[in-house]
Amino acid sequence: MTQNVEFLAAPHIEAIPPMTPFIGPEQLMREGGHASLLRLGANESAFGPSPRAVEAMSAELPHISWYGDPESYDLRAALALRHGCAIENISVGSGIDDLMGLAVRAFAAPGAVALTTRGTYPTFNYHVMGFGAQLATVDYRADGFLDVDALIAAATKLRPSIVYAANPDNPSGTLLPAAEMVRLFEALPDESLLFLDEAYADFVDESSLFPALIHGRLLRVRTFSKAYGMAGARIGYAIATPRNVTTFQKIRLHYGVNRNAQIGALASLADPEFAQHVVSETGRGREDYYRLAGSLGRPYLESCANFVCIDFGSKETATQIMNALLARGVFVRKPSAPPLDRFVRVSVGTPAERDEFAARLRVLWREIA
Ligand SMILES: *Cc1c(COP(=O)(O)O)cnc(C)c1O
Repeated sequence: MTQNVEFLAAPHIEAIPPMTPFIGPEQLMREGGHASLLRLGANESAFGPSPRAVEAMSAELPHISWYGDPESYDLRAALALRHGCAIENISVGSGIDDLMGLAVRAFAAPGAVALTTRGTYPTFNYHVMGFGAQLATVDYRADGFLDVDALIAAATKLRPSIVYAANPDNPSGTLLPAAEMVRLFEALPDESLLFLDEAYADFVDESSLFPALIHGRLLRVRTFSKAYGMAGARIGYAIATPRNVTTFQKIRLHYGVNRNAQIGALASLADPEFAQHVVSETGRGREDYYRLAGSLGRPYLESCANFVCIDFGSKETATQIMNALLARGVFVRKPSAPPLDRFVRVSVGTPAERDEFAARLRVLWREIA
């Protein structure tokens, strides 16, 4: 009885072509026969988690036989304090990617429209397809910023259930002024919820971000994956109305948030000096990359996040650079859609990693140019 009898998934799942949304560096290592890679492709923190988080998680590791608190109560209380809201305004998930899935599942019915920017952070799109909604997109502005006018025009026409916007954005690194995000939010139709992805909020001044508004049509999400250096722990949170938090409560995976991640996140919040250190080191790293791009005569996008996009003039050259870097043991990624597909995106590494990246890129660029 070892016959392979096919069994079909639900029609909206069958309609999705086979794919691997993110090809991880581990797979690239297996495929390329690399024992290690210079890991600058996934915007992971080069500076690791707070030593206090490591200590707290290590101390509690023997209790990994216990489930974590399904309410993430202590962490939500600390987050509420930090954001000046109530614990009922916070929902914790296993990263923004998880919260994004909950939002699409909760607010975009099968067949409903979800709106995003072509080439921006892609996980939203996979959830939209996976839950049977319809994806609509607008393009970035030519300068690599989100196009608020285009998003408003498309939303006015299509009446999407959800509109996705990341600010600061990935992969561009650009930050729209708070007033522009408010303009977007206020112009959206009443039936559109704004999913405001603030994965990189910690790298910019709070005053340059969307104001601390709690509103039924707004889900703002943050993560411990980037500035807090806990990507592998999988933990993030949404700030929302109590009603929307209750909606998530109905459908979320109640033990989906790792116990150790809750402990590490809580300890990270109690170590603002470390987060500040990461933010200032990241700023230095961006400056190094700007100087590197300048010395190669290549333009770049000023970034408000922990990565920089360098302009190599064409999609073909950018792809060639990315692939050649990989062949030399350097993992970077590049944006997928115009106008950003002529860029290569490199995450801020440690000073030594930045030097190594610069050296390899210089040699490569000399060969190509
Ligand atoms: C990295 C990133 C995420 C993923 O966050 P997790 O909390 O690790 O799931 C989400 N959105 C953007 C824009 C990102 O760059």
